[in-house]
Amino acid sequence: MPALPGRLVTIDGPAGSGKSSVARELAARLGWRFLDTGAMYRTVGLLGLRRGLDFSDSAAVVRAMDAAVIDFDWSQDPPRIRLDGEAVDEAIRSLDATDASSRVASMPEVRARLVEAQRRIALEHGSFGLVSEGRDQGSVVFPTALVRFFLDAPVEERAKRRVEQLESAGMAADLESIRRGIRERDAHDRARAVGPLVIPLGGVVIDTGSLPMEAVVDRLEGVVREALGSVTAARATS
Ligand code: C5P
Repeated sequence: MPALPGRLVTIDGPAGSGKSSVARELAARLGWRFLDTGAMYRTVGLLGLRRGLDFSDSAAVVRAMDAAVIDFDWSQDPPRIRLDGEAVDEAIRSLDATDASSRVASMPEVRARLVEAQRRIALEHGSFGLVSEGRDQGSVVFPTALVRFFLDAPVEERAKRRVEQLESAGMAADLESIRRGIRERDAHDRARAVGPLVIPLGGVVIDTGSLPMEAVVDRLEGVVREALGSVTAARATS
């Protein structure tokens, strides 16, 4: 992998641990860009649904992916994910697309392509500073990132947050089925052979269950600013 810029921070964690909001807010405070890698898996899932693909046929999913253009519109803040030029950030949040994303995320060929795309994005946007959020960002994609965070929270808390998110987006949400879905996705995320959800080596673990979002971001920002300060100090003395 080519050398990546030092202003790169990763945030991993299970579904509903608050990663997306925290990553977005942290990027805003630092004046950096923000990469939602879950949106990339969700868009591949949506593509499979729209093409009526059989999710047990990974070759068909990969063929469809290779024939499609999945990218971000970086002129928007936060950047909007596009499928063949169409902004799909809302469509990828449906329950069907969420299930489909979990299926495609266990396909090694899909992961290989998205990991490569994520590294390319980091090279293109890393000079602005980048907060990259997902499941494998610190463990697989950017193991040398300046700081690798792992956010976690009890399932009950995560399910409640998902319900609030969906309801505030005007979507119907049932706590029991959301809780079941989160448990299933956790199991999938942790058990898959490639890019499973793990605490990255040297990762900073933060339990977001008992903390308000602002306090979580305060903590992360403090750790990042300290790490940036150490890098600057080390450069000045070398
Ligand atoms: O984070 P989010 O819920 O949007 O992720 C959607 C799906 O994409 C999850 O089910 C997860 O399995 C998968 N994912 C992944 N690796 C990432 C980001 C997301 O496998 N880096």
